[in-house]
This record gives sequence, structure tokens and C-alpha cells, in this order.
Amino acid sequence: MRDDSPTPRPSLANGPMTLAIPGPSIVPDRVLRAMHRPSPNIYHGPLVDLTHSLIPDLKQVARTLHNATIYIGNGHAVWEASLANTHARGDLVLIPRTGTFADGWGEMARGLGLRVEYIDFGNRSPMDAAAIGARLRDDKDLEIKSVLAVHVDTSSSVRSDIAAIRAEMDAAGHPALLQVDCMASLGCDVFEMDEWGVDVTIAGCQKGLMTPAGMAFVFYNDKADRARDRSDCATGYWDWRPRTNPEVYFRYFNGTGPTHHLYGLREALDMLVHEEGIDNAWARHATLARALWAAFAAWETPGGLELNVRDPAHRSHAVTAVRLPENATRLREWTEEELGLTLGIGLGMAPLGDPAWHGFFRVGHMGHVSGHSMMGTLGAIEAGLRALDLPHGPGALAAAASVLAASAT
Ligand SMILES: *Cc1c(COP(=O)(O)O)cnc(C)c1O
Repeated sequence: MRDDSPTPRPSLANGPMTLAIPGPSIVPDRVLRAMHRPSPNIYHGPLVDLTHSLIPDLKQVARTLHNATIYIGNGHAVWEASLANTHARGDLVLIPRTGTFADGWGEMARGLGLRVEYIDFGNRSPMDAAAIGARLRDDKDLEIKSVLAVHVDTSSSVRSDIAAIRAEMDAAGHPALLQVDCMASLGCDVFEMDEWGVDVTIAGCQKGLMTPAGMAFVFYNDKADRARDRSDCATGYWDWRPRTNPEVYFRYFNGTGPTHHLYGLREALDMLVHEEGIDNAWARHATLARALWAAFAAWETPGGLELNVRDPAHRSHAVTAVRLPENATRLREWTEEELGLTLGIGLGMAPLGDPAWHGFFRVGHMGHVSGHSMMGTLGAIEAGLRALDLPHGPGALAAAASVLAASAT
């Protein structure tokens, strides 16, 4: 300790810290331990077999029998990978928007030389599939080549009905690809790639898949692969074809693989797919979300604390955006500094620097979250509301506990 260090004060933030931001999520100790090893041989041996074993399990998580590829990268990387493999420069893509992550995918499309058209549903409502269908019916020249839909927009925590969008696309008889961003929802919210008729799904490893950021996935079907034939954006690195079922190991990653991440992901998929089961993981996230909503329903005050999405049917089970005019930043800082709970900042709901920015926060409850950790998060928020004397209704923790008590078997 340096001599000028402040004298430690008693703090309730000592002890385990909890990260409740919507990505990266908590990495289980088992996953960390699996990664703690010397560098492996990348030419043959256990790592090669382990990598092969990830592909069928990833497909189970995305509920697809089609193709899965792993990129060394984050969500932005697979935004680009998905578009690069399916588009020619000048193509038009239609983006139904329910939050700021739609803007991010659109920016990536513009960067590749695509034309971007949004249908904006604001920051509090799901996509209206009928409006998407109407726009597609208007597209007589079939200029729209893809509909890019964010399943759960992590900024607003709005979840949209992907199957309904496919139904409208089919009813319109439109051949555009349906591409879905499942970064925030994969492994948390129900998602059925094949059954819902999704052509391309993208996700990353650092949210529902509980692994440190650094790998992301593109799942694609044969229709999407046919679009690859006319794409002029897929450069050598991003091309999904050499990466899919490669005969030579290093093609999986177009170079050295993310060695330690692969061990971590193996462990995480053992937990999610083989031990818990994806349906049970979905059910766990649904129950935890209901407990959280019950607490917030009790806390809510007119003009004060309020969940961003009013209708539970359109709320994510992995992330929750909260409105707390003026005081969200104070609450976040208090829970982090005083109790060791880190909540997520508001994103995209008000411009950075604008005083309104301090009126939003988010709770991440994706991946490695139990009933006990959810109660801890809610308890810490309750303490913060009390300590800062912020208006809130009574009974929140009892309401959340009742949800958990009723669901436990
Ligand atoms: C997190 C997230 C992204 C971006 O992922 P990065 O790894 O930060 O690039 C994209 N879309 C959604 C819906 C996300 O939640």
C-alpha cells in the first residue's frame, strides 16, 4: 500500500461483487477454471476434437440443423460477417427498429455500401409485423434483400415476435432473408431458428453463453448461403464458407483459434446444453424475470421509477431497462460503491451528456443468474432506493420472493 493511500473505511462492498450489466455477463468459476491452462497444440490433439464438439452444441442452443461458424470477435464482428456474406454493394436492407442496437447494425450495413431503410417503432414497443409486411408488399421490384431484426434490443429491453415477422414475409411472398440479432437473447429467451424460419442468426459468447467476450457466432441456412453467391462484400477473412465444416483445422478461424476461449465455451455449453438443458435455462430466465418485474411493479411510483416496457409480453427475460428520472446514475453509483452491485447504464434512451441520460439504468440478468443472485440484486436496489430517499412503493422483495416461492418445485 502506498503511503498516500486513503485509510480504508468500513464498506459493505467488500465480499463478492455482482456484475448485473447486460453484457458481459457473469463468468462462472467453472468456465474460468477450464480456461486456466497452458497453451495447447493447435495442429492436432484435444483442442481440435473439442472445437469440433462445440458446433453441434451451438446449433442446439440456436435450435438449428443448418450451419454454425465461430468468429474471433464480438457482436460488431458478426454484424459485419452476417451482412458481408449475404449482400452486394447497393443492396437495400430493411431494419425494424426497437432500440439503439438496430442503429448499430444499420451503421455496419452502410459501411459496407448497403442502403438502409428503417421502420422505427420507438424505444418502448415491439416491432409491428404487419407494418413490415405492408412495406414488403410495396416492394414490387424486390429491392429489399434482407430484413434485419434485433430479437431483444438490449438498450430498450424490448423483445419482438420473430415468428410473426416471418409469417408476414411469407404472406407477402417476399424473398428477402430474415436475419436476426440474438446477441442478448441466445440461451435466455425462447428462440427457434429453424421453426421460426430465420435464415441468419448472430450471437456472441459473452452474454447468455457465460464466456469472456471474444467469440461470436453466425448461424445460416442454405437460402442464406445462396445469397453468398451474389455477395461482393465477403472478403477473405469474413467469408463463412471456408469456416464451415473445414477440412483443415485452422480454417475454422482463418488463423489461430481463440484457444482458451474454446475451453471456456466447452465448459459453458456443458452447463447450458448438457446439464441444465436449454428449455430449462429458458424457464429459469423467465421466472427470474417475473420476480424482477414483480419487484419493480411494487416499487413503481407515478412519474418516477418505471419499467421501460409496459407489457410483460414484450419484455426480455435477459435484460430490463428501467426509467428513474434524474436519479438512475446516483442509484447505480450507490449500489456499486456501497454494496458491490454494478448495474448497467442507460443506453440510447437519451443522448450522452444530456441531463435526461441520468434517468435510465438497466439490469442484466442473463446467463449465470440464480434465484439467490436475483434476490441479492433486488435487495441491493431496495437498499439504494432507501439510502437515497428515492420515492418507491413497499413490498417489492416480498413480491419477488413470492414469485420464486411459487415456481420452485
Ligand atoms: C451486446 C449486443 C451487441 C453488440 O455486441 P458487442 O460484443 O458489444 O459488439 C449487438 N446486438 C445486441 C442485441 C447486443 O445485446
